[in-house]
Amino acid sequence: MAHQSLFNDAIKRLDKAGILAKVDPEVLLRLRHPKAIMQVSIPVRMDDGTLRIFEGYRVQHDNTRGPTKGGIRYHPDVSLDEVKALAFWMTCKCAVAGIPYGGAKGGIVVNPKELSHLELERLSRGFIGRMADFIGPDIDIPAPDVYTNAMIMGWMMNEYSTIKRTNCPAVITGKPIALGGSLGRDDATGRGAYYCIKELEKRRQWNPANITVAVQGFGNAGQHVARLLHADGYQIVALSDSRGGIYRKEGFDIPSLIKFKNESRQLKAIYCEGSVCEMVESQTLTNSELLELDVEVLIPAAMENQITKENVNNIKAPVIVEVANGPITSQADAVLADKKTLIIPDILANAGGVTVSYFEWVQNRQGYYWTVQEVQQRQETIMSREFNAVYNLLEEHKVDMRTAAYTHALKRIGDAIAAGGTHTYFSQES
Ligand code: GLU
Repeated sequence: MAHQSLFNDAIKRLDKAGILAKVDPEVLLRLRHPKAIMQVSIPVRMDDGTLRIFEGYRVQHDNTRGPTKGGIRYHPDVSLDEVKALAFWMTCKCAVAGIPYGGAKGGIVVNPKELSHLELERLSRGFIGRMADFIGPDIDIPAPDVYTNAMIMGWMMNEYSTIKRTNCPAVITGKPIALGGSLGRDDATGRGAYYCIKELEKRRQWNPANITVAVQGFGNAGQHVARLLHADGYQIVALSDSRGGIYRKEGFDIPSLIKFKNESRQLKAIYCEGSVCEMVESQTLTNSELLELDVEVLIPAAMENQITKENVNNIKAPVIVEVANGPITSQADAVLADKKTLIIPDILANAGGVTVSYFEWVQNRQGYYWTVQEVQQRQETIMSREFNAVYNLLEEHKVDMRTAAYTHALKRIGDAIAAGGTHTYFSQES
């Protein structure tokens, strides 16, 4: 979908939900236009002495409900259009979770696997050097996303603090624990999706031993959701990473696969060298074959635009849990809605990450740190409450779960925008 705008596709989801949420049309108008966009070029001295310039973006989509919040991704395919879409999803995600943030996103056009550790550090610090006046603990708070991690967040926080000449842990979340990170943030995205699946399990009276699961993407979110489901007896029969996938009808032993992946990570500090394809004796399959497997639950946990009009008719799973942001295009969505596929949408399914980011920010500002049990218990309360609120809207309005989630989000965003005054308010005679 390179030629089509991801942002324009993303905002299409507002129309139906806007009617159900009964929001003022001005709310939808506002959400179609990001608040602010910052584009920077970052010069980086490479290890061989040459200079390379990298392109970076930060989009603040909407800050009506609070400071903007969202990750920074490092990927060769990053574009302004993609970052705009991701920022829009963050606005909706924070509203679904009911946490007091608007949405933002950042990205650098880079293949981080090609950079040395020191080059990566210079790039990360250089990005913050350019962005320091655009972000802040009460303005816009970054976090990890695709191919960024706690160590990178630590460098960024340190750089920001150096520039501002004050220790400032609350400017960024997903930091190492030693630098003010929160316990429970590392597995929070996967865990949030897991809490959603547990709620669905109750509603559908599933016996986990009979439920087969395929996970596309074995990064942070994919690994943890697979680990937690496996520990509960779910059958994880297929997994993949960017190089390909594996299938085993008896299911995989997830902890040993994670160990393999993490051991191979030691080789290069941040990025895994080993691919899942090298891990165990199993049948290999491509990423697109994995999506088309006849499993009960399909979990896309990699990139956007994985299920499109080209492959949607081959998708067999009756339940899809969007751990990645935007893995299904709006055209494919319409086909799946007709098939009555239950899709737990990204803005709910992966909201666990930003929810624990919020807890991290609260702890940084209080200077008082919680136990992992406190973090997880509060996270579970939010995830199950919001899952059920969205599910109830689905039943009430007889709509798909994505429309229900956007309706839920729009009510909260709409209330906030309306509280500041809309045309209806200003045209009333006083
Ligand atoms: N990048 C994650 C997301 O897409 C986390 C954002 C955050 O913690 O602010 O939700």
